[in-house]
Amino acid sequence: MESILVLTHADETGAALTKASLEAVTAGLALSANLNATLAIGIVASDPTHLSKSLPSARLLAVAGEAFAQPRYSTDAAACEALCRAANATIVLAPGSSRFTRIAAGVAHRLGGFVDTHIASIAATPALEATRWFYRQRIEAVLTRDTRPWFLLLDAGAYSPYAGEPTSAQAEHIAVELPEIRTTATGLRAPQQGAQTIRPDAKLLFVAGAGWTKKQPDGQTHTAEAADLILGFLRATSASLGSSKSLVDQGGEGHSVLPFLTHLNQIGQTGATPRHPQGLSTCCHGEEPHVVGWRFIAERRAINLDPNCGWTRGKADVVYIADAFQVMAKVNALLNAEKA
Ligand SMILES: Cc1cc2nc3c(=O)[nH]c(=O)nc-3n(C[C@H](O)[C@H](O)[C@H](O)COP(=O)(O)OP(=O)(O)OC[C@H]3O[C@@H](n4cnc5c(N)ncnc54)[C@H](O)[C@@H]3O)c2cc1C
Repeated sequence: MESILVLTHADETGAALTKASLEAVTAGLALSANLNATLAIGIVASDPTHLSKSLPSARLLAVAGEAFAQPRYSTDAAACEALCRAANATIVLAPGSSRFTRIAAGVAHRLGGFVDTHIASIAATPALEATRWFYRQRIEAVLTRDTRPWFLLLDAGAYSPYAGEPTSAQAEHIAVELPEIRTTATGLRAPQQGAQTIRPDAKLLFVAGAGWTKKQPDGQTHTAEAADLILGFLRATSASLGSSKSLVDQGGEGHSVLPFLTHLNQIGQTGATPRHPQGLSTCCHGEEPHVVGWRFIAERRAINLDPNCGWTRGKADVVYIADAFQVMAKVNALLNAEKA
């Protein structure tokens, strides 16, 4: 019989488990029910005392101590190895966070196991099958493996975060033999508040296309106004900002650009494929290499002057044939009026 372990970790505050960890818990609950397998949940945190309250009833295991307050390969790998051994895990589910992605392969190797990453779904039919995408989300592969333990790192957003009945149980303390610590975090440097435009947890993806920097019907470009409209909308909605390749490429070609956009914002075949419930495309033509990055956007809307743009050809649920400058100015005014 399989023995499932879900690995979780605290967020930067240390006071809560990350959303991606709670998504892995949902996956673990469903899989243990499907396989009729035992479920354990492991916690990596400096103080796990209150963290178990957000978890369902299952066998709870935790490592504790200052060494686990910060992500670090040596201590995190030692912690996860100890949790896997304590749970006798044959299947290990973990969020594909930077913290766990860094150590999963090393821990799997120590235990003689195997790791697969970017898992989008797990099924038991009745054999255990994990699904992931290859070649920029064009090929969906279904993986099975005989090797145990099998580590599966889950893509964020593939499952909803666990929000069911919390348990009153306390986690069992698992002792970890700490290795020599050679790396110490001396501080945290983060972008200024508000400067971060990529927000994977946002409900809405707002995409800016190259049209924002093109000559408008008056024969002029209006890049500064475009920047104000886009940033104003992001401030009012906390949407995540995506971009077309044409727009981010302009920076390298010496054209007038929107300074807050980088290639990290690019959506598409050679960009990102984020998951958001809704998406709004503006001044973007909706060509296939761009739209392929919208695969996991549930409801799609677009604003384009061109009634023959790609979005009108079945790629969006709603297309507004309109001037995005005018529409977004009106939308921002309505949002600001609502807030005032
Ligand atoms: C191998 C390969 C990989 C690629 N990978 C990617 C990728 O990952 N991501 C990506 O985005 N692209 C990618 N591309 C490029 C892609 O094919 C398109 O060239 C690109 O997406 C076009 O960007 P755009 O729609 O912003 O610009 P444009 O094609 O210039 O479209 C601008 C649009 O803005 C509209 N517009 C202008 N003014 C307004 C206004 N006031 N109001 C409303 N609408 C307005 C115009 O009608 C037009 O439709 C790739 C191409 C290749 C060959």
